[in-house]
Amino acid sequence: MVESFTDRRGQVHSFGDAVEEQRVRADDRGHVFHSWSAQARINPLPIAAGKSSTFWDYEGNAYLDFSSQLVNLNLGHQHPDLVRAIQEQAGRLTTIQPSMANDVRGELARRIAEVAPGDLNKVFFTNGGADANEYAVRMARQATGRRKVLSMYRSYHGGTATAISLTGDPRRWANEPSDSSVAHFFGPYLYRSAFHATTQAEESQRALEHLENVILLEGASTIAAIIIETIVGTNGVLVPPPGYLPGVRMLCDKYGIIYIADEVMVGFGRVGEWFAVNSFDVVPDLITFAKGVNSGYVPLGGVVISDRISSFFDDVAFPGGLTYSGHPLACAAGVATFEVFERDGILERVRDLGARVIEPTIRGWMEKHASLGEVRGSGLFWALELVRSTETREPLVPFNAAGTEAKPMAEIASACKAAGLWPFIHFNRVHIAPPLVISEDELRRGLDIIDEALTVADSFAV
Ligand code: PLP
Repeated sequence: MVESFTDRRGQVHSFGDAVEEQRVRADDRGHVFHSWSAQARINPLPIAAGKSSTFWDYEGNAYLDFSSQLVNLNLGHQHPDLVRAIQEQAGRLTTIQPSMANDVRGELARRIAEVAPGDLNKVFFTNGGADANEYAVRMARQATGRRKVLSMYRSYHGGTATAISLTGDPRRWANEPSDSSVAHFFGPYLYRSAFHATTQAEESQRALEHLENVILLEGASTIAAIIIETIVGTNGVLVPPPGYLPGVRMLCDKYGIIYIADEVMVGFGRVGEWFAVNSFDVVPDLITFAKGVNSGYVPLGGVVISDRISSFFDDVAFPGGLTYSGHPLACAAGVATFEVFERDGILERVRDLGARVIEPTIRGWMEKHASLGEVRGSGLFWALELVRSTETREPLVPFNAAGTEAKPMAEIASACKAAGLWPFIHFNRVHIAPPLVISEDELRRGLDIIDEALTVADSFAV
């Protein structure tokens, strides 16, 4: 339990310090321009402190963080090992340009290569997930001499130029036209099958037939890469059916296309694997990562590159780079992340808590909540898909152009927050994505709060 908080001058304040809170609010509302928001319509909650799975506002209200912020805070708030690693690194060497070698940058790259599948042995570091995808696409385009990239509808690949074009959800709309060499296809999503499938096997097979048709109609010889979130994240925690990703791999091999796995959200333990592709028996050519690599303590992302693609650049200069590529403070936190994962058995506990606590609990809710259409996920990454009617499967919140939350979802969010839980709610879904260090008691308490909040959703269901 945290009793007080400290400002940046080291002054200690007790919760409820209205002057301090007002100062933070005034600076924010006066001068901070926020992402994805109509600036006059938002009221960001000032956060005073965080510890492990909990954070506190200035009034001292505690929130159990069931969102891991933006599904990046895998080791929770203020993890002492990560904080220490950053402090120690800051005392040794704070920054160094990318063309020089550096101990933590090299160690982190080696450790990532060791847990990556197949021959993915080199790492290009970026500042986050979107630029990792930008660079993966650039590598694929250079290495193949082709330009087009295919990505899924219902995907998110980041907010920058090509990354937002790759994105297959409404966040792309207002940013068009941008990168015109991107085409979209439908991925497997049995609950809302684009292929009228009734089983996962059918969904998988038909989604692959559809993808092959898209490849042929777009022109196989023009396609540099296919990019896929291994488990679709913000668009619904869509776990691919068995056979789908290996099938994508086969199509890529057949047509000389590079397979990019976007693991920005699911990499580094979210589903109990270093990389989620490891559980689907598939080896992509490029894997992009960010978020969990160091829990976002210092911005970091990157591309893990197969020998085949990295060797293309042995004698051809790679045309790209970033001043902060492999920033020592970020990499020091990344190396500490590996040490904590190994010492504390993080991957094992994620698999255990997912299978033993979350899955049986939320599957049990299907019986009693009229608004619950489907639950799906893995590890500490789940979605509850809410519907007006389980017969028609009409989403509790229809998509709209502004991407704003309609009333039922806002009411569910309020119910969760009032009970001390910070939820991750997107369109008609409540996602469950707590820090991987959450205790079993906290996890069960959070699930109880969501269970109760779903009665609000039920009142909107028919
Ligand atoms: N790819 C996926 C799958 C993501 O979930 C995200 C962010 O949520 C990104 C890419 C973009 O990452 P960033 O916000 O670090 O640029």
